[in-house]
Amino acid sequence: MSGKPLLPGTATLGVMGGGQLGRMFVQAAQSLGYRTVVLDPDAVSPAGAVAHEHIQADYLDEAGLARLAAQCDAITTEFENVPAAALERLAQQRFVAPAGAAVAVCQDRADEKAHFQASGVACAPYALLRSDADLAAVPASLLPGILKTARMGYDGKGQLRVRSAAELAQAWDELKRVPCVLEQMLPLALELSVLVVRNAAGQVVSFPVQQNLHRDGILAVTQVPAPAASAALQQQARESAARIAASLHYVGVLCIEFFVLQDGALVVNEMAPRPHNSGHYTMNACDVSQFEMQVRALAGLPLPTPRLHSPTVMLNLLGDLWFEPGSTAERSPDWAAVLALPGTHLHLYGKTSARRGRKMGHLNITAATAAEAEAVARQAAALLGLPADW
Ligand code: ATP
Ligand code: MG
Repeated sequence: MSGKPLLPGTATLGVMGGGQLGRMFVQAAQSLGYRTVVLDPDAVSPAGAVAHEHIQADYLDEAGLARLAAQCDAITTEFENVPAAALERLAQQRFVAPAGAAVAVCQDRADEKAHFQASGVACAPYALLRSDADLAAVPASLLPGILKTARMGYDGKGQLRVRSAAELAQAWDELKRVPCVLEQMLPLALELSVLVVRNAAGQVVSFPVQQNLHRDGILAVTQVPAPAASAALQQQARESAARIAASLHYVGVLCIEFFVLQDGALVVNEMAPRPHNSGHYTMNACDVSQFEMQVRALAGLPLPTPRLHSPTVMLNLLGDLWFEPGSTAERSPDWAAVLALPGTHLHLYGKTSARRGRKMGHLNITAATAAEAEAVARQAAALLGLPADW
């Protein structure tokens, strides 16, 4: 964006994708007074339901893209697998952030890792698998490891753990021999993530570091401040994230996931070119949310450094909560009991049907102290039937 910001109350912002991240972006944009348009192929979607306008079209549909471009002053995306060609098409007419080229790097684990290395940030030792020769050349030091498809993986999908060369060959067959990355299995002490925001003027700010717990490859709990990460480690994560964003000439909110190894080393895992599930805590615990920051970056507005005003725990609410344990009988979680607890903030995404593993919403718990937020989060987890394993 050249110079002039798109001022609140005067402009229209568009988003590719109608999921929950698009919905919360739209809500933040509307709260600032922007008009909003969502493009999503589904007739019913979390973001389409709240936007001023929903263009129901495929992501590569020329007429749909033309309508979106005509209606919007600037356009963003809410998921990284949006076809890069669609973003490039929109960018011929309108300001698009993040840019298709930056999103393309995040779509491919091989490109992503090359970018981390070029930014001077260490990632897990890995090898690329694209041919029989690559397979034969895999060093034994990468085993045991995790085989990940280079493209289209999320929530632990498209990943197989392998202990030996024989298991690796079999796993690659199972993944239909698509291009993959084999990563060494690292001894993790904990997982962190950082939201970094950059605008077109090159201003870069980051949010306080999140500590994340995953269950079955899906984010389950986020705690901020990160209880097990030293101040120095958090500073290192924020600086690394800022370097990665700057060298990508990134515009918007970028989430970088890190591993902390048992020896204390910080290793970058992957990045997502958008607001992130682990950043939902910002909605109630920071003075500016990650979604408002995405709006600001897209609109070319200033980016003040966000401030955490309350220690917080976020519990992800998956579709499993809408079923009786071990059964297919549906139930409704007891929100009244949960909301009776102090400092609870419920966010449901308006999805019409629950499925096990589907992200239905999240619960932010804020308190005056981390210990209080912890205690209330454990009470909420008990009421919901969630494990208190963090
Ligand atoms: P998402 O996009 O939902 O974050 P994903 O499917 O892209 O997930 P990753 O982040 O690559 O998956 O991995 C999912 C989880 O698996 C990580 O959060 C971590 O717990 C574990 N994991 C991944 N890679 C490694 C590794 N090299 N060593 C040890 N554990 C790992
Ligand atoms: Mg991940």
